[in-house]
Amino acid sequence: MSTIRFAALQETLNRKPVSITEKERRSTLFGQHVFNKHAMQQYLTRTAYDSVINAIEKGTRIDRKIADQVAVSMKDWAISKGATHYTHWFQPLTGATAEKHDAFFESINGGLAMEKFDGEQLVQQEPDASSFPNGGIRNTFEARGYTAWDPTSPAFIYETTLCIPTIFVSYTGEALDNKTPLLRALQAIDTHATAVCKYFDKNASKVNATLGWEQEYFLIDDALANSRPDLVLTGRTLLGHIPAKGQQLDDHYFGTIPARAMSFMQDLEQECMLLGIPVKTRHNEVAPNQFELAPIFEEANLAVDHNSLLMDVMEKVSKRHHFKVLFHEKPFAEINGSGKHNNWSLSTPDGANLLSPGKTPMKNLQFLTFFINTIKAVYENEELLRASIASASNDHRLGANEAPPAIISVFIGSQLSNVLNELENVTKGKLSPEEKTDLKLNIIGKIPEILLDNTDRNRTSAFAFTGNKFEFRAVGSSANSAIPMTVLNTIVAKQLKEFKIEVDALIDDKKLKKDEAIFNVLREYIKDSKNIRFEGDGYGSNWEKEAKKRGLSNNKTTPEALQIKIEKSTIALFEEMKVMNKVELEARYEIDIEEYTKRLQIESRVLGDIARNHIVPTAIIYQNTLLENTKNLKEIFGEEFKNIAKEQIELIMTISNHITEINALTLKMIEERRNAKGLKGLKSAQAYSKKVKPYFAEIRLHCDKLETMVDDNLWPLTKYRELLFTR
Ligand code: ADP
Ligand code: MG
Repeated sequence: MSTIRFAALQETLNRKPVSITEKERRSTLFGQHVFNKHAMQQYLTRTAYDSVINAIEKGTRIDRKIADQVAVSMKDWAISKGATHYTHWFQPLTGATAEKHDAFFESINGGLAMEKFDGEQLVQQEPDASSFPNGGIRNTFEARGYTAWDPTSPAFIYETTLCIPTIFVSYTGEALDNKTPLLRALQAIDTHATAVCKYFDKNASKVNATLGWEQEYFLIDDALANSRPDLVLTGRTLLGHIPAKGQQLDDHYFGTIPARAMSFMQDLEQECMLLGIPVKTRHNEVAPNQFELAPIFEEANLAVDHNSLLMDVMEKVSKRHHFKVLFHEKPFAEINGSGKHNNWSLSTPDGANLLSPGKTPMKNLQFLTFFINTIKAVYENEELLRASIASASNDHRLGANEAPPAIISVFIGSQLSNVLNELENVTKGKLSPEEKTDLKLNIIGKIPEILLDNTDRNRTSAFAFTGNKFEFRAVGSSANSAIPMTVLNTIVAKQLKEFKIEVDALIDDKKLKKDEAIFNVLREYIKDSKNIRFEGDGYGSNWEKEAKKRGLSNNKTTPEALQIKIEKSTIALFEEMKVMNKVELEARYEIDIEEYTKRLQIESRVLGDIARNHIVPTAIIYQNTLLENTKNLKEIFGEEFKNIAKEQIELIMTISNHITEINALTLKMIEERRNAKGLKGLKSAQAYSKKVKPYFAEIRLHCDKLETMVDDNLWPLTKYRELLFTR
């Protein structure tokens, strides 16, 4: 056994769970490190408080004098909690979070020192951000980027630093981050959903999108994980033979959480409580050492921030427990991958869920309106939704018979399907009084009961209605949810805008009553969007054929999937909804393509290195042992050795074959990599996808075969069974 592998195993076997004491009740801890309403009430003047609340609830501007006041109070609050530094906390296009810490401390003349932080530092900063990906935006405009305070997401303290959530934009106003477009999309959905809500409640004033994510992840002992160059450098294993026991016994799912993982979770949850992340559920997932954590849902912008923050906190807490947390969508072949389901809905300020039916027929019609418009929006933009979750790592998961396929479809369950089928028969134009009564009593009147008993679930669907929300299941575990949430809210906003125009036209021109007009438009939408609805098995190959007939896209790789992001229709849509302009969209596309290319390039290099510098030499050492053994047998037994050493001789030949294949395939892969590297943009990404990547599986096959032959004591890489079953 390699010394590294041996040492890692020894270290792991000696691990004990870190003991976690919970001194305070979680409800007492909740939000203690957040500058939330409660803290603001204590620290801000009434005017300042009202101004911040108005900014959060109505999107009004905070004037500079007030910002100064808020800054001073925020600083006092932070220092009282032990903070020494502050940072603008933002989400650049790397998908991760970024921060640059400055001390509050400033030395003033005369040697007198004091802490300083005013509106200027709160509201705007200029991080030296030239090395964040920007897709050429800053070069084009020769402008630097700056970060600006987002008062809708409260400041928080993490590890003695006051973190202020901010957007990150260029001087010419183009978004350089994931938060800015999300905020604009949330503005769009607010505008257009509120306008539609007014049909049902003339006092409707605001609609919030809500998001409840479910984060899946693997926890691997860090000594074991660090012993694998592929895990360290790419976040996934590029090779490794399947262990004798995988997940086939289904004994991990919802089973008892192992002690060390439990201690990590308790520690993590305490941190989350302090940071105001309302984590609620934890459990084992399907694969060994795979887990899931989910919070109570929140307003979408806050929920996205909380997910990004959680991922950072998980990495930090996991170190204390000697774990490495893997967010990669597919860290292990043949073992379930990880996703991040995004549960989405719309709600009014009083907390009413627009995707829940109500007590009156009007409320039920409101439910149907938002329900059907969402389906229509997904139908019209399925390819764009697919693009919003595209990444090199998620490509391994989509369509791998454990996660939704790369085809986007909507599952709503048989009972709601029946409702929509009935609604398809609504009479064109004016409705008779009898028909109205029938609709009221027998069709939409039945919806609340139907949903109470909503046991219909289909785990193979990419986008499923689950009783009072839609669940976008194709999102990857490492993704920043801001990206799919920006697309989803934008397309639904656009759809609702269209809907309002059509309904108003029927009311004004055809003199239909409001509910008649709504039924008429919904009827057409149900017919139009039928092709996106699918209740069957999304994993089967039949569905692929069927989806093709229906004209749905099936973009299996990221380079294919991304194309729609820069189509004319996409640019028009995003510009109309004021979410992103052409420059911003093209910049993001460029960054996505580059990211994909780089990931594959790194994986290919790491695989080549492991195969030729770790696996092949080990195989040769073992082969030499066999040769030595055969030679000795020949010395003792003469020609008789051929019968005695039959196995050894066969093994020597087989090993030789694998070594030859590995070397030849690696050389070919390197050749293809050189070609791919010489190309630009999409061409390069396509070459990596179609010419380089196919070698990964081939090379892996030979390496994994060798793993089953070579003496376990010599094998250099920590094995799957050790990574997955050591606890
Ligand atoms: P499951 O889908 O596993 O049966 P739940 O129905 O409780 O479990 O919800 C799963 C997730 O959906 C949770 O993360 C929760 O926060 C989220 N969720 C529930 N209601 C909403 C909503 N109205 N908007 C957004 N997310 C929601
Ligand atoms: Mg779920």
